[in-house]
Amino acid sequence: MDYTMQIQDTAARLFSEEKIDLFIGYRSTGFDNNQVPVLIHHYQDVEQLVFTDKSVFNLTNYLKYEYTRNKRVGLVVKGCDSRSLNLMLTENQVKRENLFIIGIACEGVMNEQGEKAQNCVECVMPDAVIYDELLGAPTGQREYQVNADINELAEQPLIERGTHFEEIFENCIRCNACRHSCPLCYCNKCCIDQETSTLYQGSNTTSGAFHALMTWSLHLAGRCVDCRNCEKACPSHLPLHLLHKQNEQVIYENFQEHLAGMIKDDRGAFYKYSMSDPDDFIM
Ligand code: SF4
Ligand code: SF4
Ligand code: SF4
Ligand code: SF4
Repeated sequence: MDYTMQIQDTAARLFSEEKIDLFIGYRSTGFDNNQVPVLIHHYQDVEQLVFTDKSVFNLTNYLKYEYTRNKRVGLVVKGCDSRSLNLMLTENQVKRENLFIIGIACEGVMNEQGEKAQNCVECVMPDAVIYDELLGAPTGQREYQVNADINELAEQPLIERGTHFEEIFENCIRCNACRHSCPLCYCNKCCIDQETSTLYQGSNTTSGAFHALMTWSLHLAGRCVDCRNCEKACPSHLPLHLLHKQNEQVIYENFQEHLAGMIKDDRGAFYKYSMSDPDDFIM
């Protein structure tokens, strides 16, 4: 999967036709073929842009900041990224008319060990669901599968599961890189941020981390698209997908097979009210 030339060409065209103010893409770091996001402001810099199976980050996260909010932006989205973009549009965080979207029919990205990333193996929608231009051959929606790690955990006794999660919370340093790297966490005043917290004091305790991360994951319940931007940003390398994928599974099974951001204007699982809901569980 290499769309470097196509993306450079499109970005160059958009700048020369004065259709965008900036382009958000990926550039190579020069080390081990790794890439980082890059914001391109000028036609002459489009040669920096690359796209391969190392283009791991969700670029829609950059749409939530003031420096892009009222600009005309070109950007690249894979399937998972496009689902978060759909949600940002539905939640009025971005204006469609300000965007030129290059969608990717994605073949999956690599993890640091050079293997296909777990979320890509389990990906339910690899094709971009919203775009102006699509690169690659779409393969369509796949059958939903329960996350492998959640399946494995479910087989352990409750006490061992509890210990596993306790270790996760113990190793959290409350840096909030996870919340800041999630495109769907755009609140100016966040209830778990140390600086603006309305709910929790910022102390770095296991209990503080437990409450903050549980609150965070519930705010993403029915909205998380499994892009794992948060996990990639975590300096403690915590398996944050365990929180989100557990919520995703519960919601899929109890809210009419809801999957976040698949359909434009779908406001999410918690808007799916039904008189026949048996109301037999609590998240
Ligand atoms: S989760 Fe799906 S869309 Fe996202 S990078 Fe992996 S294969 Fe591509
Ligand atoms: S919580 Fe993590 S995996 Fe889910 S949408 Fe946000 S960044 Fe992506
Ligand atoms: S954790 Fe909740 S309050 Fe904080 S930014 Fe995310 S959605 Fe908003
Ligand atoms: S990024 Fe990792 S260490 Fe930082 S607050 Fe989130 S879970 Fe904790």
